[in-house]
Amino acid sequence: MRVIGTVLGLAMVLQGTAQFQEVQVAVLYGKGVRSATVMGTRGNVAILADGRQVGELAPNDGLRLTWEDGRLVGRSLAARYTARERITLRAPAGGGIRLRAVVPKLPERVYNGMLDVRAVEGELRFVNEVRLEDYVAGVVESEAGAQQAPEYYKLQAVSCRTYALANARKHAAEGFELCDQVHCQVYKGRAMHAPITEAAQATRGMVVVDASIRLIHATFHSNCGGETLNAEDLWSKPEPYLQAVTDSFCLAQPHATWSMAIPKTEWLGYMERKHGLRTNDPAVLSELLAHEPRCRGLYLNAHAPLVPLKQLREDWKLRSTYFTVRTVGDQVLLDGRGFGHGVGLCQEGAMEMARRGIPFTDILHHYYNDVHLIDLSHLDFFRDEGR
Ligand SMILES: [Zn+2]
Ligand SMILES: [Zn+2]
Repeated sequence: MRVIGTVLGLAMVLQGTAQFQEVQVAVLYGKGVRSATVMGTRGNVAILADGRQVGELAPNDGLRLTWEDGRLVGRSLAARYTARERITLRAPAGGGIRLRAVVPKLPERVYNGMLDVRAVEGELRFVNEVRLEDYVAGVVESEAGAQQAPEYYKLQAVSCRTYALANARKHAAEGFELCDQVHCQVYKGRAMHAPITEAAQATRGMVVVDASIRLIHATFHSNCGGETLNAEDLWSKPEPYLQAVTDSFCLAQPHATWSMAIPKTEWLGYMERKHGLRTNDPAVLSELLAHEPRCRGLYLNAHAPLVPLKQLREDWKLRSTYFTVRTVGDQVLLDGRGFGHGVGLCQEGAMEMARRGIPFTDILHHYYNDVHLIDLSHLDFFRDEGR
């Protein structure tokens, strides 16, 4: 049932064939924009008021958008347009739309496709209707920057695409599919870096599914410290594709190790207060002051009351749950490995694998167990099967 549900949900996202699929992304979402200027990057931008074309914006002209007395107003050097509900801008093929928020002032963004502008409670709401591959490239550039190897960009592209499709109903009640903030995926407009747009094209339409053809949650973290964690060890719910694997690729990377010193009295006081441990018992004390895991574990000590490493990470703001404990003088020293929760893909390990030229499909299978890359159009096939 669950498989069918997910796939049916997807069908609502698909507009036409997978090849021409588009997504609707609310941009500058939650920024409270009251006034903005749009301009074309090249060629004339078509201007539509309430769905009807009313004019064109020449390359050297700009359109100032505001909401005045219950109407949307667009002013350019050449003309003034009003609309009851929405003003839509459509870039010509190969061109883009620059959007610059004036109140409040925000950095300029450039979008491909169409930009739909409406007023919601006195604020302007912008929805970029854009081809899926352009959106994916934009997200990869916003999240991965311009320094990575091509195979890493491909890996990111399939992950972003999978996430976008799995979450495309998050904002259904608001009339669009995704927002451009961390709530969905950070999207700062079209990608400028050629290797990123090429990676999106090279993986066009590909998504990652588990053994039941469900889109996966491509969980990731910065550095696993040499070993990832099972999903159930963190979230108590197992996920067949999120299982612990060993990883040597991240060991020499920037976030491979960390250390922290804590006054012994504070450390032991915390153990008494928070976990009810009797620190005057020598057996208890030795467990709290010396801990040397050979692999990732779940608890600091072996005898009840147990101290969950997850809890320690939260309370002491530790980079990971993977660390040793030793005592030097009146200090407790934690020597840790990795950075982040440790479940799923290890980013620094994946970046290193990509730098060594390992194909993105092998990287994917290294971190996610029993997953498959399939083309979006095959999801159509499974949807039909489910009916
Ligand atoms: Zn969102
Ligand atoms: Zn790793």
